[in-house]
Amino acid sequence: MSDYSISIIPKKSSYPNRKEKATEILEWLVHKNIINSDPSDCTLGSKFGYAISEEAKRITCFPNELPFSLITNGLDIITERQVFDTCQYGLDECICPNCKENIASEDWSFFNDWHEQKSNNLTCPLCNIATDIHQFTFSPEWGFSDLGFTFWNWPDLTDDFIEEFSHKLGCDVSIVYTYI
Ligand SMILES: [Zn+2]
Repeated sequence: MSDYSISIIPKKSSYPNRKEKATEILEWLVHKNIINSDPSDCTLGSKFGYAISEEAKRITCFPNELPFSLITNGLDIITERQVFDTCQYGLDECICPNCKENIASEDWSFFNDWHEQKSNNLTCPLCNIATDIHQFTFSPEWGFSDLGFTFWNWPDLTDDFIEEFSHKLGCDVSIVYTYI
């Protein structure tokens, strides 16, 4: 069976005090009984995650579709810079905010400086203007940060929950749907 995930990612390339914030969010979700406090092998990541718990029903639009019966059912917390892409959902458009061209089909080496933490900008390969990565329009949505929260095999999250999550992070968030 294929796995999918929903990730919540702050729209900040370098999130200040990201490890402390990761712990704060973890404690908040455990307190609400949305996830289990004991790390376990419940994600596709190489490290342990936090398995789904009973009150997850309150934060999804489709409680009957929650993955209680699956092994891969947990939350993975990422605290290293990464591109949160969509895997098989791909990338249809990446629009430069300066020249408004779609650069999704260009050579993706323009991501390298961001990936190597040399810059928070992307330099458009067509107009050569560097702009903050979060000013580009990715369709479907991608995320770019050194902090992220990935829920494995969970159905759509409610708008209220995403709003509350965004408030906890103190900034706008990207919601990235990944299909493996
Ligand atoms: Zn451009």
